[in-house]
Amino acid sequence: MVEKNINWDGFLSDIEGIEVIDKPNSVRLKSRDYFWYSPILNAQLKKCWAHLVVLPRDEAEVMRVASACAKWKVPVTLRGGGTGNYGQAVPLVGGIILETTKLDNVLEVGSGFVRVQAGMMISDLDDAVHAQGQELLMWPSTRSQATIGGFVAGGSGGIGSVRHGVLRDDGNVRSLRIVTLEEKPQIITLHGTDIQKAHHAYGTNGIITELDLALQPAVDWHHAIALFDSYSEGIKFGEALCREDYDIYLISVIDKRYAPFYSKFGAYFPKDKYAVFSMVGPKTIAAFTADAKANGGSVSLMMNDAELAAAKLPPAYECGWNHTTLQALKSDRTYTNLQVAYPQPYDPEIDRIFMEEFKDVIMHHEFAKERGDYQLFSLPLFKFTTTERLYEIANRFEELGCGIFDAHVYTIAEGGMKVVDQVQVDFKTLADPHSLMNPGKISQEDSNNVLAEYGVELPAPPA
Ligand SMILES: Cc1cc2nc3c(=O)[nH]c(=O)nc-3n(C[C@H](O)[C@H](O)[C@H](O)COP(=O)(O)OP(=O)(O)OC[C@H]3O[C@@H](n4cnc5c(N)ncnc54)[C@H](O)[C@@H]3O)c2cc1C
Repeated sequence: MVEKNINWDGFLSDIEGIEVIDKPNSVRLKSRDYFWYSPILNAQLKKCWAHLVVLPRDEAEVMRVASACAKWKVPVTLRGGGTGNYGQAVPLVGGIILETTKLDNVLEVGSGFVRVQAGMMISDLDDAVHAQGQELLMWPSTRSQATIGGFVAGGSGGIGSVRHGVLRDDGNVRSLRIVTLEEKPQIITLHGTDIQKAHHAYGTNGIITELDLALQPAVDWHHAIALFDSYSEGIKFGEALCREDYDIYLISVIDKRYAPFYSKFGAYFPKDKYAVFSMVGPKTIAAFTADAKANGGSVSLMMNDAELAAAKLPPAYECGWNHTTLQALKSDRTYTNLQVAYPQPYDPEIDRIFMEEFKDVIMHHEFAKERGDYQLFSLPLFKFTTTERLYEIANRFEELGCGIFDAHVYTIAEGGMKVVDQVQVDFKTLADPHSLMNPGKISQEDSNNVLAEYGVELPAPPA
């Protein structure tokens, strides 16, 4: 049994006039995200579907849906663009998908900030603020598919993080407006460090309807590739670029074994070279080129948006972060990845040891900033054979002092810091007193309890 005797007629009557999708194929498609990156999550989640998809047009409609869900005890899974990698937007126990994409208006642009509705596509938002000479501080490589609310509720950082840190760093997200899931929904606005109550909470504790985000003056970013004979030269070049006086928005160091997956780039990324994909501001192009040379490399590509479009090449940001894995998966679905955080400051000895021991793992590093200091992440790629082998690779990184953000679990705690975030759980008692929001996503223990309560058994992951 997936749902606990919900009175769907009563629910639908309460939300009359609000758009609903009930065609089974469409509902099943909207119940998926990119969990299939992980063979483990794919086995567990591929048959988890909602009953209906509801698409409110504005905050008043969101409140009507929230009220009806609380009244009829309908589980609610929020969905923006559905690009999360960990089954964040997959309903474990049925209920409804509340899709936010119709809440897609910019509300106010001021000097250094924008107020926007949660369902706006990030590319549309960034284009809108660009028209006023400003730009977002950061966005995921899914800029063209993801919503801004989904990014703050499910993501962490990405393009721009090497300059501005991650979403949770102070000042990047200025406030969140949240609708609670109660018969009489309330609106709560979180400011400052209170943002952490709902950031990366996977929509378990309230519906974000509006966000206030910091902006910076727009830069004419150039998409760049620098080529090297060794991976370690690429990393050293990346380190050289981590300077406050450089205009750099992206530094992705990529193993030469990725080149066949990036065939569109032809001679810009040949099979025998390691590549650093970057986004560089005009004032830093000369220094970037000189630093590449000083580290034994050379720049093969430097084009702004217009030149790149004319050359029919993909943007550099679709060559970094989790797009790197996507390029490989487009060719071969047996690949998967890990998400690794290195201790600060970065010690290259960790990678020297790891790469010596695991020669079949294809490396890819991202440079970012966290709490003001430079921080390296890697998203190593390898063919999935068994769950045991996957965790053998993950465990070795941990033994070497790294942290693993486990991309093969669907719960917040086990996926991140390995502990339940008590601040978020406390906020849930206010924002979701009936425990109807994305049930089972807080921790494995929470998931086990929810699955038992709803009588749902997920298929076992592969051995
Ligand atoms: C190829 C690829 C590359 C990626 N690169 C990055 C990257 O660079 N950085 C990064 O951080 N992530 C990355 N991701 C993950 C994901 O794309 C981003 O986190 C993205 O911003 C999620 O936005 P979305 O609109 O698709 O959210 P969804 O997947 O729809 O939702 C994400 C989570 O947020 C919840 N949610 C959605 N909207 C709301 C709301 N209004 N209120 C409350 N909860 C809500 C959902 O329930 C879900 O738990 C990548 C994924 C892929 C497939």
